Amino acid sequence: MNEIAERYVKLVLAMGQHDPAYVDSYYGPPEWKAEAEKGKRPFADIDADAQRLIDALNGETASLAAQPVELERLRHEYLRRQLEALRARVRMLSGAKLSFDEESQALYDAVAPSHPEAYFQAMLDDLERRLPGKGPLIERAEAFRKQFVIPRDRLGKVFDLAIAECRRRTLPHLSLPETESFTVEYVTGKSWSGYNWYHGHYRSVIQVNTDLPIFIDRAIDLACHEGYPGHHVYNALLEKNLTRDRGWQEFSVYALFSPQSLIAEGTANYGIEVAFSDAERRAFERDALFDEFRDLLDRLSYAGNEAARRYLNGDIDRQAAVQWLTRFALMSPDRAEQRTRFFDDYRSYVINYNLGKDLVKQFIESRGGTDAHPEKRWQEFIQLLGSPRLPSGLRP
Ligand SMILES: [Zn+2]
Repeated sequence: MNEIAERYVKLVLAMGQHDPAYVDSYYGPPEWKAEAEKGKRPFADIDADAQRLIDALNGETASLAAQPVELERLRHEYLRRQLEALRARVRMLSGAKLSFDEESQALYDAVAPSHPEAYFQAMLDDLERRLPGKGPLIERAEAFRKQFVIPRDRLGKVFDLAIAECRRRTLPHLSLPETESFTVEYVTGKSWSGYNWYHGHYRSVIQVNTDLPIFIDRAIDLACHEGYPGHHVYNALLEKNLTRDRGWQEFSVYALFSPQSLIAEGTANYGIEVAFSDAERRAFERDALFDEFRDLLDRLSYAGNEAARRYLNGDIDRQAAVQWLTRFALMSPDRAEQRTRFFDDYRSYVINYNLGKDLVKQFIESRGGTDAHPEKRWQEFIQLLGSPRLPSGLRP
């Protein structure tokens, strides 16, 4: 089997000389690649070799025990089907015209269901009702989505957050090699929106295409799909479990136009749902997008204290306090007016909210109860609730 696997890898590498996109990833022996790069093998030659490999593989399968270990059986079937797909790709590159369904069956071992226009129209009608307003549906849909564009200068931060969150949710469920990691690059001029390039040794490079605006829902999509628990994890597990632990060399190469891709893309997309419930996802997206906004508003709350100080000291009158609040605390005039009446009733009590929060936060975080240590944070928080501590005792 190992010899068949090696010859398979070399055939995929030979295909890569005709069609660079064909070899999506390879981390096997570098000399095999160097050998393939010496020249283009004729398609007829590759095809005949693939046929010989299938015959040899059939012989191996026939000599398996009557009740083979499942993983062994899967290995045989997988390799056979990958080889058949390789032969189909050779036929295509040699000029054969396959219909869409013939092609997907031959390459990806599956055929997509067909739907008439009416099927989609029914969904559009539903959407028409849910997105009220004037103008064509496409404009209303676009206007709706526009609210959720990630600002260009926030892309890196939002993606880092999304990746960290997907990773945090994935890692407890499996054991990945310690050295697994990936880097993110921002690129333009591609036909895809994201791509995971697996380099072996549990490392990937994830590229994000910034040609078009990126909506907030793509942050989780891309981070899960390309990273955790999607392509990066898939490739790392195949490398660890099959290529390294078992020595199944056929997994050191990834032929893009092959049944493997349906599993790769299917798991990458479904992985999003595995890692996040709908509600968790919504919460994350809201946070990621509005984090900075909320942060600024939080800090603006001190403008309220300032208005109260001036008003209660008699430096400004109610009208000027209202103006101050609308200008610096972004309050609507009626809300600002209501706030000045709170000043009348409760006076400097206003500082207890924002200054109070900040002092408590400082206190707990200085004791190690940070975002990164939520358990410790809970512990410190509960301890503070249950102890008679003075505000001056919160200061470091
Ligand atoms: Zn993908």
